[in-house]
Amino acid sequence: MAKTGGTKLKILMCTSEAVPFAKTGGLADAVSSLSLALARLGHEVKIVMPRYYGINRDKLKRMEGALGVPMAGGEEWCSAYTTDLPSGPSVGPSNGSKKPVKVYFIEHEGFFGRDGIYGSPFEPDFLDNPRRFAFFCRSCFQLCRKIGWYPDILHAHDWPAALAPVFLRHGEKYGGYNESGETGSFATTASILTIHNLGYQGIYSKDAFFYTGLGWDVFYQAGFDDWNMMNLLKAGINSADKINTVSPSYARETLSQEGGFRLDGPLRYRSEDYTGILNGVDIEVWNPATDRYLPAPYSIKDLSGKVKAKKALQRRYGLPEASKVPLIGMICRLTEQKGVGELFGPSYGSAFSICLDMNLQFVFLGAGEAWAEHEIGSLSSRLSNFKAQIGYNEELSHLIEGGADFFLMPSRYEPCGLNQMYSLAYGTIPIVRNTGGLADTVQNYNQKTGEGTGFMFDYLSPNSIYDTVGWAVWAWYNRRKDIEAMRLRGMEQDFSWKKSALQYTELYRKAMGT
Ligand code: ADP
Repeated sequence: MAKTGGTKLKILMCTSEAVPFAKTGGLADAVSSLSLALARLGHEVKIVMPRYYGINRDKLKRMEGALGVPMAGGEEWCSAYTTDLPSGPSVGPSNGSKKPVKVYFIEHEGFFGRDGIYGSPFEPDFLDNPRRFAFFCRSCFQLCRKIGWYPDILHAHDWPAALAPVFLRHGEKYGGYNESGETGSFATTASILTIHNLGYQGIYSKDAFFYTGLGWDVFYQAGFDDWNMMNLLKAGINSADKINTVSPSYARETLSQEGGFRLDGPLRYRSEDYTGILNGVDIEVWNPATDRYLPAPYSIKDLSGKVKAKKALQRRYGLPEASKVPLIGMICRLTEQKGVGELFGPSYGSAFSICLDMNLQFVFLGAGEAWAEHEIGSLSSRLSNFKAQIGYNEELSHLIEGGADFFLMPSRYEPCGLNQMYSLAYGTIPIVRNTGGLADTVQNYNQKTGEGTGFMFDYLSPNSIYDTVGWAVWAWYNRRKDIEAMRLRGMEQDFSWKKSALQYTELYRKAMGT
């Protein structure tokens, strides 16, 4: 039975990122959107995250007093700030009373008073990350004690928060560390760990285990051990009541040796408690009918704004304003995960051959690994129909989604993926690898029936990318009716967060055993 006594739950999100405060990837979007969607269902949701140097304190409310966080070797003192999570319309539940999502920021000069979330250009993974995030995870419990609010659900996200379920299971549930002497307040709290990307696990030297303040018995019981190192995500997987990832197909793939990043065994061991719940998209931000970054709004009823967006995008990239030539867009972090080795490498079939052989235009936006940025720079100097912008640009990403005809995502793996969902909503046809969340959101084109919402391939290679882009371009020139029908079918899909929030609610109840 829920502690709240009714159907509404108290949920604490422990996270290292949440928009609009700190973001390096899809995790930040997912945490905030899910929290708002849960609040709309009437749940009481609070988010706790570090107050990084880049988060302006002037806009936050300082909480009175200090928080003492027990760490190995003594207590660390910190303060906390709070604010409401901004949202479009009111997050008020149906009874009319507003219940905003509260965000709490843990401030500690030594751990978070520096530029960067996980690292800096000079130190990509801060040496003291295990200590920083051990401190953060422990502080979540102290914060609850301070505000006298004990959650039904502790929902941790990715490796930086993975120690929170470990602390809960191995101590906090049974009283834990408590300045006031009150015990057992987390006794009925259940924990969820969401894996947004299994490629990042928080693997550090075993020596850093000391900072968790846990005993060596817990090191082995919770399964921190990883080839004589310490794996924070693995310990979280072993300790959480329920584990999930961000799409059903990715959940299946991570149970295999190929997709499991060496954690397929621990995940198979927990397979009864492991599921996939597809992320939603924030339709207040990603909606062509209201998008302020587009030259004109458009919708399924009137696509004339999309024609204007294509022109604006071509102008922006210095391409001829050719309406009949298909325009392919791509936005991504330049890492191996996104298939950039195959797409921008030297083999036949890569972007060079695609742009040379086919009558199309290609625009790219993204940043990441230096070699890929270099290859892309060289491509744009050699090809007149390939243009790239290296860097992060929110506004341009909206224009690409609106203005392109096709959107390319040849990912090696994709836990959920947001861009293909944005593309569908914007009538931009995705060309994707059949993996993870891409497989769950895109239906392959059927040339015989005209059905489908995108173009898909199974095996990741330059040739498959070439062939599939070629197929889409062929359909553009030879099956225009199918293309127009696919656009509309994509725009009809519902990827709102409400569906996901209902599935999370179900998962929470299972974790609580209610
Ligand atoms: P991941 O989280 O693996 O990077 P997702 O597709 O789940 O991939 O989410 C990435 C988000 O970041 C999307 O909203 C995407 O548009 C955005 N994004 C990635 N790179 C850029 C960029 N260079 N400029 C603007 N937005 C970007």
